[in-house]
Amino acid sequence: MMLLMAMCGISVQASTVVAVGTGEAGGQRTGQSAVWHDPSGDAGLQAAITALQAGQFKPLASAGSTGLKKGSYWSFFELHNTRQQQLPLRLEYVDHQLIRLRAYVREAGAGGEFREVADQAMGEPFARRPVFHNRFVVPVTLDAGEITGFLVRFDSEEAGFVFPSMRIWSPDALSKSHTGETAVLAFLFGGIALISLFSLIVGVTTGDSSFFAYFVYGISKIIAWGTILGFTHQYVVQNHFHWSYMSAAGALSIFCGVVFDRLFLQTHKYTPRLDYLLLLMMVNAGVLLVSALLQLKQVALISITLALLFYPLMTFVALVRWRQGSSEAAVFAIGWTLLLTGLFYQALRDLGLVEHNLLNYYLPPLSSFVEMVTIMAAMGIKLRRVRLQGLESERQYRRHLEQSKVKLEGLVRARTEELEKAKQQAEMEARTDPLTGIRNRRSFLAEAELCLKRAYRKGEPVSLLMFDIDHFKSINDNHGHGIGDEALRQFSHTIQAKIRETDVFGRLGGEEFALLITETRPDALHTAERLRDNITGIRLPSGEEEVQFTSSIGVACAHQTQTLEQLMREADEALYAAKQGGRDRVVEYAQSNADAHATLSREEPQPA
Ligand code: GH3
Ligand code: MG
Ligand code: MG
Repeated sequence: MMLLMAMCGISVQASTVVAVGTGEAGGQRTGQSAVWHDPSGDAGLQAAITALQAGQFKPLASAGSTGLKKGSYWSFFELHNTRQQQLPLRLEYVDHQLIRLRAYVREAGAGGEFREVADQAMGEPFARRPVFHNRFVVPVTLDAGEITGFLVRFDSEEAGFVFPSMRIWSPDALSKSHTGETAVLAFLFGGIALISLFSLIVGVTTGDSSFFAYFVYGISKIIAWGTILGFTHQYVVQNHFHWSYMSAAGALSIFCGVVFDRLFLQTHKYTPRLDYLLLLMMVNAGVLLVSALLQLKQVALISITLALLFYPLMTFVALVRWRQGSSEAAVFAIGWTLLLTGLFYQALRDLGLVEHNLLNYYLPPLSSFVEMVTIMAAMGIKLRRVRLQGLESERQYRRHLEQSKVKLEGLVRARTEELEKAKQQAEMEARTDPLTGIRNRRSFLAEAELCLKRAYRKGEPVSLLMFDIDHFKSINDNHGHGIGDEALRQFSHTIQAKIRETDVFGRLGGEEFALLITETRPDALHTAERLRDNITGIRLPSGEEEVQFTSSIGVACAHQTQTLEQLMREADEALYAAKQGGRDRVVEYAQSNADAHATLSREEPQPA
């Protein structure tokens, strides 16, 4: 009930006397039931005693904090040792940001005079503290059955809030509690440190700058909370600690937090207008840092208030980014909201709306820890998304590569086919007589050479037929060159149609043709006759008339020794003999023929 009233900010009118015994374990607290505010901050012990006697000490109106006010506060309470022996006690002041505390004791036996029993200040070397604790602790010893009065003065320098609440411990219980608390804090800080280290490693391996920023942010959190909770003074900066270090550490943490948030949420790219506000937050954190270092407490207070007011903005930004499709931003929003809850509760406590207790004492660092863990999860989601995006773009790249490879292969194949065709065409053209479509001289010679060798190897008979159209000049002269050409074509087609595929037929030039056949002498002569006969059957229409022509044929039969050249010469000689003999006839080469030819060549050829 009392707690509920306290939570609601209702002042509790209680007696200033607290009964104490052995085994006090922090469960009893006092200090808020009689409080006097000295706005000047100059009042000394005597003025406080006067105020006490004048009844100016009143119960603290709020749940535990004086709120932000200038000057100093004085608290009065009495402890009644109900035991019949001396009682050593530890009075622990819950305010970890208290700048100076002075305690005076009025023992029953000392004629009502107050004497100073403690004067502890944040700026003093930690070793001067009578009890090794991160907060101010006043050790006292109460005589048997005695009621001892306490006047305690709190200073926060300039404007500040003060928690006059004090917990009562036996020396052992306080020591145990402090060890326990330190262990819990070490766990939280250790967790944050590990997450930061992990983030640093991920940052190094992935090159993602937000992981580096998260590492720095985590470390700045440890520094900030360690400093604000008094551990930096207790363990690190033991001799020259200053209250401004708390604000500076807080400012650093806020600054690093905003830097990280901007990088992680990519606000510069996706929410440029909100990004300006985050930049303002960074500037404000900078102002806080500078004002702390210059010890401008008023400016620092305004700046830290602004910083806290700006904090919910980050959740808003994260939600906007979530709406834009970033799933990690949603998890970020949850983490940030948890941090906000802790800070909000702290603000309620500082304003005196919520009782100062152990839970809300460690809630901000705890929520900070939970935020670290949650945001680490968000980082994991981001990492996964980035990895999947990488895989997808690699897949697309591969697909494109495969497609262009197929395309290229197709092009190369088509081009190769084209070239092959062109080559074949060129080769064909090189072998072919353009007018008649049969082998030209060169091709005939090459193929006939092969054919001859093949026949010799197989022991087959070979014969060469040499053709020359008779009086061809007169066909040209009488019917025109076109008919002459047509005569050459018809001649070629006629012979081509009558021979075997294995026979080699070609135009040697003009109206001279040659045919190599694998036939015996009688067959060859028979073939020659047959062909000559077929040639006489050719009819070429020319106007009203029909043109006819004949061909003389010289035949040479191979005897397994002649070269093609010799064979051609022999056939040519036989052809010559055929012309001499009156044309339109077949003459076989024979030694006798050669002789005849030799004789004839000396005479004038006979006209047909
Ligand atoms: P012979 O009976 O003695 O063989 O007499 P010929 O007129 O056939 O012989 P000649 O060598 O005097 O004439 C051959 C002619 O063939 C001369 C040339 O104008 C003609 N000629 C050569 N090549 C072609 C051609 O491709 N087309 C045409 N239309 N005429 C050609
Ligand atoms: Mg000729
Ligand atoms: Mg001729």
